Amino acid sequence: MTLNILFSAKAERWTDYEAPLRKELDAAGLDYTLACEMPADQVEYIIYAPNSDLSDFTIFPKLKAVLSLWAGVEGIVSNDTLTVPVARMVDQEGLTQGMVEWVTGHALRHHLGMDAHIVNPDRDWNCTPPKIAQDRPVTVLGLGALGMACAQSLAALGFPVTGWSRSAKEAGGLTCLSGKAGLEQALSGAEIVVLLLPNTPETENTLNAARLALLAKGAFIINPGRGPLIDDDALLDALGSGQIAHATLDVFRVEPLPQDHPFWAHPNVTVTPHIASFTRPDTAARVIAANIRRDVDGEPLLHLVDRRAGY
Ligand code: NDP
Repeated sequence: MTLNILFSAKAERWTDYEAPLRKELDAAGLDYTLACEMPADQVEYIIYAPNSDLSDFTIFPKLKAVLSLWAGVEGIVSNDTLTVPVARMVDQEGLTQGMVEWVTGHALRHHLGMDAHIVNPDRDWNCTPPKIAQDRPVTVLGLGALGMACAQSLAALGFPVTGWSRSAKEAGGLTCLSGKAGLEQALSGAEIVVLLLPNTPETENTLNAARLALLAKGAFIINPGRGPLIDDDALLDALGSGQIAHATLDVFRVEPLPQDHPFWAHPNVTVTPHIASFTRPDTAARVIAANIRRDVDGEPLLHLVDRRAGY
């Protein structure tokens, strides 16, 4: 039986995704029609980017599942018209690998104090040599697909890594904590903090003034998670006092970051334009085709969103 699969994302994404999706759907042995437009009453699966024009899912009476191209699903979970299962994007080869490289690179930049040598107009020869990794405690908030991979990669470089998540976990080489008390313990004395939590009501302002004060003096913040995870005013205060030496921020409460936002001009803030990692068509198409194949075979979809938890 032919499956009807609708691709719903910004128009330019169809050009990037059509060929990889056809290749992987063929390789998965599926008989399908794939299009970016089709009659609503025929649609069975939707490959979906939350910034597409589609928001009313009641018009699809045969819809079986939605496969998100994005890992962050805060734009989907509150959509009451979407009642079928939703799978998040989890793609180790593309999205996760990209995040590991970005986080590791920025952590090493701060750990090694690279900035002092990259821009050294006075040709200063008296720079402090860097510590080695084992002397620099790192905390990763969020131990999901992305956070766990980043934590393990940093631990493999020798950093003592503490991870924090909602549910208790065990992972070789990491100290894993959970719950409110676990958060305070995870942050106390940390010198680098990486945020890879989803944006939910519970995670808003995870790094507030009181928690920033728990970090080691002169700590570094790396946020590729979501803007609302940090209280921006508290961060600016902590940067002003030297409690935080530098913040590398990829995500913001408003994106693009407004031109007059103080983060742009701050000497101790690095702004990157939400590029820490992104979904790569070749590898993501494989993940999506494999998940549709599972559904057709009567197996549960992988990476399902928990609507009540919000991620
Ligand atoms: P996952 O859902 O796999 O992992 C989320 C992690 O956060 C889990 O460990 C989860 O705990 C933990 N968590 C959730 N809520 C809480 C809470 N209230 N308290 C403590 N821990 C909590 O997500 P991913 O790793 O795939 O992605 C993480 C985020 O990264 C995305 O939501 C998105 O916002 C962001 N992202 C950013 C990109 C960028 O380019 N900047 C690209 C892609 C994603 P538990 O394990 O117990 O469920």
